Amino acid sequence: MMDFVFETTPKLVCEVGAAARLGEMAKDLGIRRALIVTDAGLVAAGLLEPVEAGFKTAGTACALFCDVLADPPEESVALAVQAARAAGADGVIGFGGGSSLDTAKLVALLAGTAQELPDIYGIGLAKGPRLPLIQVPTTAGTGSEVTPIAIVTTPTSEKKGVVSSLLYPDLAVLDARLTLGLPPWVTAMTGIDAMVHAIEAYTTRYKKNPLSDSLALRALGLLSGNIRAVIADGRDVAARAAMLQGSLLAGIAFANAPVGAVHALAYPLGGHFHVPHGLSNALMLGPVLEFNRPAAGELYAELAPAIMPGRSFATPDEAVAAFIDAMRDLVAAMPIEQRLEQLGVRQDDLPMLAADAMKVQRLLINNRRDVRYDDALELYRQAW
Ligand SMILES: [Zn+2]
Repeated sequence: MMDFVFETTPKLVCEVGAAARLGEMAKDLGIRRALIVTDAGLVAAGLLEPVEAGFKTAGTACALFCDVLADPPEESVALAVQAARAAGADGVIGFGGGSSLDTAKLVALLAGTAQELPDIYGIGLAKGPRLPLIQVPTTAGTGSEVTPIAIVTTPTSEKKGVVSSLLYPDLAVLDARLTLGLPPWVTAMTGIDAMVHAIEAYTTRYKKNPLSDSLALRALGLLSGNIRAVIADGRDVAARAAMLQGSLLAGIAFANAPVGAVHALAYPLGGHFHVPHGLSNALMLGPVLEFNRPAAGELYAELAPAIMPGRSFATPDEAVAAFIDAMRDLVAAMPIEQRLEQLGVRQDDLPMLAADAMKVQRLLINNRRDVRYDDALELYRQAW
């Protein structure tokens, strides 16, 4: 048996309607004055109303920071930290998609220390202490509620990560009711992102372990089995809950068995062209699956039954081909752009993207097959 280390969020509440009890849960963590970190769209959609009512009932004070931006820029994180200090917050609640959850992590980490954001880019540089932190995802995708990573966009359009065990929240609350209003294109891209987390965790080079494998397999089954249903009918609570749990399991898996080339190639698209994280992953998935086939084929054959339950394969090669085809077909069936060309990326931009992707060695080292500059360029060409 192999040696491994496994970490995750210490407490998870998966319950439809649980967001109304956040005030009480914050109180149980000793929070008297919370800062809720979210974006203006969710406030406008009324998602915060039951939450604020719950805080009132629990007798816990809460302030709102609702200016989170997608691909959070450094200055937006700094504003949120200022808001926490100004409100005298003694606890932070991330409420939203990956950008809100990542911003909340950094607010909880930075509000109570003298460290600045640029001091903590990299692995294990944050010293803490951090404020009590609750994470409440409103998309089924990033798994940020169970990862020790926060991604920020620097002034030079680079995506940088803070990685620290301090970024695991004290509690994650998964309430499928919060995801009912997501439009089909957001559901599609975040759902594919979660599937990529499961696939890349299962095929990762160094830290693959029995726990991450079990979680990735189960996640892939839940996500592939429900993604078409939630796109056809966004109000299907059971299918929404299955997606949220699939995203959770995939998040726990990749927090411990890290992602590879799909994510490394996706980041420059977000940094330079603001392509949403899930969409950039969806577009790079097919080319990278094919590229990794010589090194990861055996593992694809193990994943095939998770997305095609009940189907039997005559040979392992047949299972590998069926797996790649099924994932490509799924992405093609989603109501999202299918080519980089449709997103304002010009062919002349591809060398710059490939050069930037090579800087994401943090992730590229996890890929089953070595990716050089020429490979990255070819993968972008295929996705273009
Ligand atoms: Zn991702």
